[in-house]
Amino acid sequence: MGNMKAGVVHAREDIRFEDIEKPVPGEGQVLIKVKYTGICGSDVPRVNADACHFFPNVLGHEFSGTVEETGKGVVSLKAGDRVAGVPLIPCMICEDCQKGNYSLCKHYSFIGSREFGSFAEYVVVPEKNAVKFDDEVSFEQGAFFEPATVALHGLKRVPYEGGKTVAILGGGTIGMFVMQWAKIFGAAEAVVFDIEPSRLELGQRLGATAGINTLEKDFMAQAMELTEGRGFDYVFETAGNTITMKMAFELAANKANVCFVGTPTKDLSFSVKEWENMNRKEFTLTGSWMSYSAPFPGQEWKAVAHYFKTGALKFDESFIYKKVPLAKIADAFEWYKTPGTVKGKILIDSEQSYETA
Ligand SMILES: [Zn+2]
Ligand SMILES: [Zn+2]
Repeated sequence: MGNMKAGVVHAREDIRFEDIEKPVPGEGQVLIKVKYTGICGSDVPRVNADACHFFPNVLGHEFSGTVEETGKGVVSLKAGDRVAGVPLIPCMICEDCQKGNYSLCKHYSFIGSREFGSFAEYVVVPEKNAVKFDDEVSFEQGAFFEPATVALHGLKRVPYEGGKTVAILGGGTIGMFVMQWAKIFGAAEAVVFDIEPSRLELGQRLGATAGINTLEKDFMAQAMELTEGRGFDYVFETAGNTITMKMAFELAANKANVCFVGTPTKDLSFSVKEWENMNRKEFTLTGSWMSYSAPFPGQEWKAVAHYFKTGALKFDESFIYKKVPLAKIADAFEWYKTPGTVKGKILIDSEQSYETA
């Protein structure tokens, strides 16, 4: 038994870089030497507010690394395999799990919130919670499997067909992946809506057929022009923002499918006129939660490994805001206290786990 370095949350606004016991893989588990872990939006209130489940805790659930050791009975992985972490551990017993709706399980565990995660040199996970990827896929990409699967799950929530028009509201990481999946599966038009010109440019670099700045007065007219006045066959809301949620109702075509992927953060009210779009257009509205399907963890995860490898699913360096050594993890959480500072994903580098300066 040895020790390892980790970023340990001891209390609100108290995350320390320190030694803890290195975990040992039990039966059916694998020990992963962590490379990169993305800081998720959900991690921020677990450090800077009161969302942490218990103390001390080790967060981190969007990660990549290499299998170091396998426990008894592990057959699908071996030491040296490059893997992406799958954070959800569903109960596999409840009715939702029996149907393969793992995201809906109420008796789940979660790596990096309910059990120790990957803001550490090592993490132990069940065999099924490590998805292998090939050498062509970088460890940086490995840390983006989770957001890429969340985006694909959104497409799987609607009866998606190629040859149609798709609106993506919000040009963040999830939006960029939704847009790319829409293209991969044959969208005729995939249009990104955002307020940041740089995000719209990035969208087009990654294959969007157009980008529309919703700060422009005539943006709705621009959008309608792209669809010959019909509106969009599919609308994916990825920002969780009141304005974009209402916009989704307006952009939808007759008989469209509208899917809310973004997580809402505020109460929202609709005027009669806004709401009755759903009646008048007879569109179908649904939501999407996490990224799992049967067989666990699901097609979403296999598809990301596959399409990252072929290059059809593109990764842009601008997805990464900064790489931060594990030793400096407290600094990274400090930056979130000033809104607008962190532009993109912070990756914690677990291999740089010793103070150098
Ligand atoms: Zn997350
Ligand atoms: Zn369950």
